[in-house]
Amino acid sequence: MAESKGLADYKRLLADRPEKLTGPEAAYQSQSQNKTDYFCRDCKHFFQGPVAGYNVCEVVRLQPEKSIESHAKCKFWTRTGERFPLLNSKD
Ligand code: SF4
Repeated sequence: MAESKGLADYKRLLADRPEKLTGPEAAYQSQSQNKTDYFCRDCKHFFQGPVAGYNVCEVVRLQPEKSIESHAKCKFWTRTGERFPLLNSKD
């Protein structure tokens, strides 16, 4: 049976996911490594996913893909999108 146009559009939409940085590219540090007060949960780019416990970030997609930890961080942490206090830090 031929696929409907609606279903084809739906699959195309899901396949066309926005490109994001990998964890290493963004210097993502998991919560076990994060010794600072900067946490993903306070970052402008952090979103709680629709499925309980699954968090997503606008900037980073981990490989293999998994939930962004609420107490992790990366060098693009920002509250406003204008200041990036970790961008040049060694933390
Ligand atoms: S700190 Fe980095 S990984 Fe965490 S939510 Fe912000 S941009 Fe995403």
